[in-house]
Amino acid sequence: MSDGSRIWYLDEADVAPTIAKLNKLNERARSHGLEGRYTCRLGDVTRQPVYLDGGYDAEAPLDPYAKPDHYKVTQELIVEGVAPKIAGWSFLATLSWDGGVLVTRTVPGFDGRIDPDSVQDQWCDHCRTRRERYDTYLVQAQDGERKQVGSACIKDFLGHAFQPSWVASHGSELDDMEQSFGQRVTEEATVDSVLAWAASLTASHGWVSRDKAEIEYRESSSSVLRGLLFGRSKADREGRQELQPADDHKATAARVRDWARTADVSDSEYLANVQHLAESEYVRPRNAGILGSAVASYHREMNAQAEREARPVSQWAGQPKDKLELDVTVRGDTAIDGDWGVTHLYTLVSDDGNVFKWFSSRNLELAPDQHIRIKGTVKRHEEYREVRQTLLTRCKIAEPQPEPNAQPELEAAS
Ligand SMILES: [Zn+2]
Repeated sequence: MSDGSRIWYLDEADVAPTIAKLNKLNERARSHGLEGRYTCRLGDVTRQPVYLDGGYDAEAPLDPYAKPDHYKVTQELIVEGVAPKIAGWSFLATLSWDGGVLVTRTVPGFDGRIDPDSVQDQWCDHCRTRRERYDTYLVQAQDGERKQVGSACIKDFLGHAFQPSWVASHGSELDDMEQSFGQRVTEEATVDSVLAWAASLTASHGWVSRDKAEIEYRESSSSVLRGLLFGRSKADREGRQELQPADDHKATAARVRDWARTADVSDSEYLANVQHLAESEYVRPRNAGILGSAVASYHREMNAQAEREARPVSQWAGQPKDKLELDVTVRGDTAIDGDWGVTHLYTLVSDDGNVFKWFSSRNLELAPDQHIRIKGTVKRHEEYREVRQTLLTRCKIAEPQPEPNAQPELEAAS
């Protein structure tokens, strides 16, 4: 967590206050028992010529033989060290209670659950105070202990990024206040209307997740949905005309709402968030996308259910390290954003009803229901939601060949 070394070019008058602020941070770190300290040293003094009548660029003369009117003097200050923090804590999630509804935004790869009873609106476990704040943060120690902290205290856990005295540091008390002013204009939509627009949008365009949108340089569905519900631009107005929810979209919305309210959320933080929102009456703009994505999740879940019912026969295939050649149908392609980039999880069902999973490091653009022949190696046998499935690795598509647009070596290297 080293901040490395930074060099600031300060006006002489700012040098002393900046060093004082630095010392204060170190002092605070000492008194709070935090690890990490900053050190600083003075570097060169730089004199830059200033030509008062130099035109646009005051540092370059109009007349090449002109003498500078004066010099701008800056003092180099070199800051080194590690941001003070309590050792061993890492960031887990942002907790928000927009409109009283708890929604968690967890770090990528988080697959646990956050107990809603263990956290509470506006509370900080560290300084043990309740203050007006929109977001709080969940941090976790190496031994698994979790703490909910406010934005002023989180710096103790994650490190306090040092700035010169004239730059406001992030997450200060003043930032908190400004943020709360900015959000005073409250907009809300009903759960039913969010889901009806989402049903219409999903039916016409599919649901494009943020990750997928980023990869494909498209607008995410969650952003389109926010526009449909709250936007005032021309595109938003045209979108509302194109996608006005019909009766069947409203019916889908009602089914999704009931499903979300009763879903088993014990092993999914995402579904727990969807459930909290579906149980409320109104939804704020920044949560509309999370609720709207439930339509696609609902369809996926219904497909999976149909599959489970139609195919109670799925059996494990082969033994670990066996090489298999299979005729399969593509049932799902889920992009998963992880530490090593985006992985595609393909769900494949063989002609005799066995379910296979394959994590591919590249997007093979397999379409749902596409029938392909693959060769792969059995990695292990798993059971997920009572369906036996065989995890494959090192798969090759035998036929039909996908478009030769992929360049695996280049992609792997980038
Ligand atoms: Zn606090």
